[in-house]
Amino acid sequence: MKPRILVCNDDGINGPGLRPLADAMRALGRVTVVVPAQERSADSHALTLHKPIRVHRVSPGVYTINGKPADCARLGILELLKGRVDLVVSGINLGFNLGDDTVYSGTVAAAREAALLDAPAIAFSQDPEETRYGPAARFARSLARQVLARGLPRGICLNVNFPRPLGVRFKGAAAARLGRRVYSKEVTRRSDPRGREYFWLAGSDVTSVRDAGTDVVAVAKGLVSVTPLHVDTTDATVLADLRKWDLSGVRR
Ligand code: MN
Repeated sequence: MKPRILVCNDDGINGPGLRPLADAMRALGRVTVVVPAQERSADSHALTLHKPIRVHRVSPGVYTINGKPADCARLGILELLKGRVDLVVSGINLGFNLGDDTVYSGTVAAAREAALLDAPAIAFSQDPEETRYGPAARFARSLARQVLARGLPRGICLNVNFPRPLGVRFKGAAAARLGRRVYSKEVTRRSDPRGREYFWLAGSDVTSVRDAGTDVVAVAKGLVSVTPLHVDTTDATVLADLRKWDLSGVRR
């Protein structure tokens, strides 16, 4: 039987990386697309729990919802595919999701939600300067084929970032840990036309920390980065230390 593949994203139905990824997956199995009707970048792992989610069928096997990226994965897996899913892919995002970005990313959240539901999942993101998605889509197909064959451990999803390719292919790929991307800490404060103050959080400046072995360094070298992410974010070292603390709560 053909593998069942769910395609999600956070750039929405008009995201430039959606069709290339969906088309690449069609070579591997039966594809269902469930994506937000509007762009939902940086919505992280939000779920729509307090209002109805409507599903709009765009074409056979392609749906938009008035929800978030994680909603797409959850509704797609549990309802539209009735739990019968062999792989969930998310992307290809317009822009990197490296290091710190993975905390905010809706692209990664859709893959993480799939991992929480025990479905193998991969998030794909690309250098925002790159407008061609062909090389990334071909790489995605090759990696997806391997994940379908090998599976992934429970609670793990893969996070993949594409640098600008050289011509039609990449220089190579590297298994990498998460690095650090430090965004500008500036908060812009302004006044609206009625004299009330408002704030603007998103700074455009980002400093990538060049630590060896990280996804940040891999893409800087022109390599595709592949990072395994665990839904369990416990830190084992600090946990062991914390067990020596007095957590009884009786000391004031
Ligand atoms: Mn996005």
